[in-house]
Amino acid sequence: MPLVSSKQILLHALENHYAIGAFNANNMEQVQGIVEAAQEERAPVILQVSQGAIRYAGLDFATGLVRIAASLADVPVVLHLDHGTDFDQNVRCLRAGFTSLMYDGSKKPFDENVATTKRVCEIAHLVGIPVEAELGRVLQSTDGVTPEEVEAAMTQPDEAQRFIELTGADSLAVACGSVHAMKSREAELDIERIKAIHAKIPNIPLVLHGSSGVKHESVLAAIENGVAKVNVATYLNQGFTEAMRKAIAEMPDETDPRKIISPGREAVKERVREKIRLFGSAGVVDSSGGLTSGKRQFRSAHLGGAEE
Ligand SMILES: [Zn+2]
Repeated sequence: MPLVSSKQILLHALENHYAIGAFNANNMEQVQGIVEAAQEERAPVILQVSQGAIRYAGLDFATGLVRIAASLADVPVVLHLDHGTDFDQNVRCLRAGFTSLMYDGSKKPFDENVATTKRVCEIAHLVGIPVEAELGRVLQSTDGVTPEEVEAAMTQPDEAQRFIELTGADSLAVACGSVHAMKSREAELDIERIKAIHAKIPNIPLVLHGSSGVKHESVLAAIENGVAKVNVATYLNQGFTEAMRKAIAEMPDETDPRKIISPGREAVKERVREKIRLFGSAGVVDSSGGLTSGKRQFRSAHLGGAEE
C-alpha cells in the first residue's frame, strides 16, 4: 500500500496502550528486514531515516527504498524523518514525500525550539503531515553522560503542556532516563515523570528515544502510560553488523557480497519481530490493512501470560 501518515496509527496505539516500533534504516537490506518483519507480525511500522542516513544514501535513495518497500507490503508503513535538526531539512523531506517529520530543537533554548517547531508544524500541517518534536534532551552515550546530566536534561511536565499549546506538534519525544546509542540494556525510565507528562497532554503520543539501553519492564511501563512510539536503532545495528562479522569469519574466502549481507538482513528482521511483539503492535493490522485492537494476547504471551 502507499506510505501512510504516522498520525492515525500513533493515536490508535495511544488509545489502545501499545506502541509502534520506529526502526532506523540506512540501506536496502535494513529496509527490507524491517518491512518483512512488520508484515509477518501484522504490525504497522515506522521506518525512519536520520540526517546521517540521508547523507549516506542520498535523500532520493532513502525515500525511494522505503516507498518501494511500502508499496509491496500490506501493512501500513510510515516514512519518518528522525531528528531533523533544522527547518530546511524538514522542508526537503516534506517535498520528497515523507509522511511524518521530526524537528528536534532540544539543544536550543525553549523559545527557539518553540518558534521553529511551530514553523515546521504550520507548513507540514498544510499538506496533512504530522510532526514530532522534542523537549528535554535525550543525550548521547558517546558523550560519556553522568546520571546527574541525564536527570537534569529530563522533560518537565508543565513545560511539555506549554510547548504543545504553543507549537501544535503532533507527538513529543520526551527525556525520561534513556540515553541514545547505549550498548547494554540497563537504564530504567522515570515512569512517574512519563505519567505526569501524559496527564498534562493526554492526546499527544509520547515518543521514547534511546530504547536499546532501557530494560524491557521499563519500556512496557512507559507504553502503559502514554508512550506510543518507540525508536530502535542501536539494537538493530548491532544485530546487522554482528551477523555480517560472523559470516565473514565463517567464509573468509567468500567474495559475493550478497552472502555476507543477507545474514545481516535476517538478523535485523528477527530483532524487529522481537521488538514488535514486545511493544504490543503484533496482530494490530487486519487482513484488509486496517487497524484492530486485538493485540493484547501478543503482549501477554511475551510477558509469560499475565493479562492485565
Ligand atoms: Zn533519538
